[in-house]
Amino acid sequence: MLPQGLTPDDFGPDAPTYAGELALGQMARLVPLLAEAHGGAHLVIAGRVDECGRRFVEGSVTAELILICQRCLGAYPHAVEEEFRLTLVSSEAEGEELPDDLEPFVSAGGRVQLMDLAEEELLLALPVVARHREGECSPPPNRAGISREELSPFAQLRGVFGDDSCERK
Ligand SMILES: [Zn+2]
Repeated sequence: MLPQGLTPDDFGPDAPTYAGELALGQMARLVPLLAEAHGGAHLVIAGRVDECGRRFVEGSVTAELILICQRCLGAYPHAVEEEFRLTLVSSEAEGEELPDDLEPFVSAGGRVQLMDLAEEELLLALPVVARHREGECSPPPNRAGISREELSPFAQLRGVFGDDSCERK
């Protein structure tokens, strides 16, 4: 079972690892990007403290997101399996002071909302342009069968004068 959020007591060497499902339909920023918002994301998360006394969370988010292919506008499944390790900070400014190899996560009041965190990881895992894999996409049949020559008003004249302009010299 997942708690709603982690509290300061959930960090440390003996802190529990939580695992459970979160409904995709409740992720307000993610939903508009999905073709279907049913189903859930599986979150595994544990709070830890690093050697410098900084609190961080580590774990993974897995989900199958149904995206809309921008080429054919069809829906297709996009599997996400994101592992994360995020150091908690109380503000964006504090995040910028972290060493470069640490990824910050802003948690107001030291509380980590699991829904927010999972949603953020899923958003990061989305492709820049949602698209079927090469060969799995079938574009809509609009004009696909009509060649450029058939659309040209001169296509028929070409039959009269011939295609090769050199012949007219
Ligand atoms: Zn497609």
